[in-house]
Amino acid sequence: MYDVIVIGGGPGGYVAAIRAAQLGMKTACVEMRGALGGTCLNVGCIPSKELLHASHLYEQAQSGFGKLGIKVEGVSLDLGQMMKAKTQVVRGLTKGIEFLFKKNKVDYVIGKGRIIAAGHVGVTDADGGEQVLATKNIIIATGSEPMPLPGVDVDEKTIVSSTGALSLAAVPKHLVLIGGGIIGLEMGVVWQRLGAKVTVVEFLDRIVPGVDLELAKEMQKLLKKQGFDFRLSTKVTKAERTADGVRLSLEPAVGGDAEVLECDTVLLAIGRRPFTVGLGLIEAGVEVDPRGRIPVNGQFQTNIPGIYAIGDVIAGPMLAHKAEDEGVACAEMLAGQHPHIDYNCIPGVVYTHPEIAWVGQTEEDLKSAGRAYKVGKFPFMANSRARAVGDADGFVKILADTATDEVLGVHIIGPDAGTMIAEAVLAMEFKASAEDIARTCHAHPTLNEALKEAAFAVDSRAIHA
Ligand code: FAD
Ligand code: NAD
Repeated sequence: MYDVIVIGGGPGGYVAAIRAAQLGMKTACVEMRGALGGTCLNVGCIPSKELLHASHLYEQAQSGFGKLGIKVEGVSLDLGQMMKAKTQVVRGLTKGIEFLFKKNKVDYVIGKGRIIAAGHVGVTDADGGEQVLATKNIIIATGSEPMPLPGVDVDEKTIVSSTGALSLAAVPKHLVLIGGGIIGLEMGVVWQRLGAKVTVVEFLDRIVPGVDLELAKEMQKLLKKQGFDFRLSTKVTKAERTADGVRLSLEPAVGGDAEVLECDTVLLAIGRRPFTVGLGLIEAGVEVDPRGRIPVNGQFQTNIPGIYAIGDVIAGPMLAHKAEDEGVACAEMLAGQHPHIDYNCIPGVVYTHPEIAWVGQTEEDLKSAGRAYKVGKFPFMANSRARAVGDADGFVKILADTATDEVLGVHIIGPDAGTMIAEAVLAMEFKASAEDIARTCHAHPTLNEALKEAAFAVDSRAIHA
C-alpha cells in the first residue's frame, strides 16, 4: 500500500513525488512516456531553450561578431548536430530525474495510469499487461497537450505542433505560425535565425496576450526588425497540403473576404488543453470544468476525497515553475503542513531576444480593477552594462500603488529579462515598495541597475535618464 501515487512524471508530478518521499511517504510515480520530466524536459522548456541558445549563437557568429572586431569566416549550419546536441541535453536531464527518484526512494512505474476509484490505480504497460496498485492518496499531474484547430491537421512534418517544430529535418523556406503566443514566437525565432522567412497569423489585434500591452507592442516592433511578418486580427480557416507545402486560407477575424497564403511549413500553436484521456475520471466521478481542467480546492483536492490534482491539468498559467511549486505544496499538505502559493507572484518569461519577463499586474489589469498606480520606466539604452555588451533594446517598467508605493507589477523587455525578474518576484513576495528596490544597493555595472533606476523613476528621480 502506497501513501501517494502520482500519475504523470512532469515538473508537477516528479517534484510532488520527490517531496512526498522526502517527507517520509511511500511514493510511486506512474509515467507512460518512457522518460521522466514531462512536456517540459522532453518536448517543451528544455529543448526549446537549447535551440534558442544554439540559434542565437549561430546568428551572432554570422552577423554579430564582426562589429566587435572578431572575424569569423565560413559559418555554416549543421542542423543534424544541433538536433543531436539538443537530444543529449534532454537525455541527460531526464536520466537525472531517474537518479533523483532512486536517491529519494520513489518507485518509478512505467506505464499508463488509470484511476479505478479513490485508493486504486491501474497501470497498463507497453505489452498491455495491467497491474493494480493500492494507495491512500492519488495526485493527478497528467499535464497538457496542444489545442487542435478544425481544418488544420497536424502531421508533425509539414503541419507541426511545438513537438514537431523542435525536430524539423530541414530549415523551412517559409514558416507560418498560427498563433502569436509564447510557443509561436519562441519557435519562430529559432527557425528565423536559422534562415526561414516567418509569418505570424494571430486572431487577436496584438501578440502574446496576457503580457503588458506596451511590451507586446515593443516586442512586435523588434521582431519585425528581425524579419518577422505579422498578420494580426486574422484567422486560418483551412490548411491544404500541396506538392510544394501548404496552402492556408485566411480570413479577417471578424469575417470577410478569404485569401490564400502559401508556405512550406506551418506551426499550429493556439494554446494547450489539459490532458486527461483514458485517465478514468468519469468512472471515478472526478469532475472537470467546461475547458477540461480539474477543479480543486485550496488543498489541491478534487471533488473526490483522496484524489488531488496539480500543474497544467488544473487552472492557472501553464508553466513548469507553477506546476513544481504546486507539487511541493500538495505533498506538504498531505503531510499535514500548511504551505502557501501566492499566484500573483508567479513570473512569466518569453525567451525571445530580447526576452520579456513579468510578474504581478499589467497596466491593463490595474485599469480594469480601477486601481490608482504610478509608472516608473527606465530604458536599457541608458544602462551601462547593456551598452557595453551591445544589447540595449527594451526597458524596465515598474507599476506601484499611488498611495502606498507598493510594487504591483514589474515588466521587463530586454537582455536576460528572465533572470532579472527574480529580483522583482522576491520584492513582491515581501510586499516591497518601489522605494525599497530603489534604496537597495545594486552592483555596477549590471543589467539589474535598470530595475533600480525604474524604481527611482516611479518617483520621477532616475539618475541616468
Ligand atoms: P507535463 O509536463 O505535461 O507532464 C505530464 C506527464 O504526464 C507527461 O509526461 C505525460 O506523458 C504523463 N501522463 C499523462 N497522462 C498519463 C497517464 N494516464 N499515465 C501516465 N502518465 C501520464 N513552461 C515554463 O515554465 N518555461 C518554459 O520555458 C516553457 N517552455 C515550453 C515550451 C514548449 C514548446 C511547451 C509545449 C511548453 C513549455 N512550457 C514552459 C510549459 C511547461 O512545459 C508546462 O507548463 C509543464 O510541463 C507542466 O507540467 P505538468 O507536470 O503539469 O505536466
Ligand atoms: P498561448 O496561449 O501563449 O498563445 C496562443 C495564441 O494563439 C494567442 O495569441 C491566441 O490569441 C492565438 N489564437 C488562438 N486561436 C487562434 C486561431 N484560430 N488563429 C490564430 N490565432 C489564434 O499558447 P501557446 O503559444 O500555444 O502556448 C501554450 C502554453 O504553453 C502557454 O500558455 C504557456 O503557458 C506555455 N509555454 C510557456 C513558455 C514559457 O514559459 N517561456 C514557452 C512555451 C509555452
